[in-house]
Amino acid sequence: MHELSIVYSVVSSATEALAGRKVAKVNSVLLRVGALSGIMEDPLQFCWGLATAGTLLAGSGLVVERVPVTVRCRPCGEDMALDGVQSFRCPRCGTLSLEVLKGRELEIVSLEIEEDGDDAHSGVAPGDSEKERPAGG
Ligand SMILES: [Zn+2]
Repeated sequence: MHELSIVYSVVSSATEALAGRKVAKVNSVLLRVGALSGIMEDPLQFCWGLATAGTLLAGSGLVVERVPVTVRCRPCGEDMALDGVQSFRCPRCGTLSLEVLKGRELEIVSLEIEEDGDDAHSGVAPGDSEKERPAGG
């Protein structure tokens, strides 16, 4: 399943982004997915729980922001959003050779986290923390 590897790489990137921060909980991850990326939301959601289990992102939600296809028509000289990916024809002049500007995105936009603010007595030494290993499967 293609989506599973995508989700794993998203989880990995998000975990890296959170490195060094005192994260109490990750509430949600906002992912931008272009309509042309060929990635469907349902399989991503399906894989999310699986891929985040045992990580910093466990229990978080995945929010997918769909990016419509934006193309540029040379004859018209204008950028416009297409309703779907079925028709790659300029709605105005009918030109087929459209330049795709947006729609191939696959990127993490933001992470909504709860930081551990109660650190009055914590003695966290950077670089000296043992990694927790998930017990069993
Ligand atoms: Zn046109």
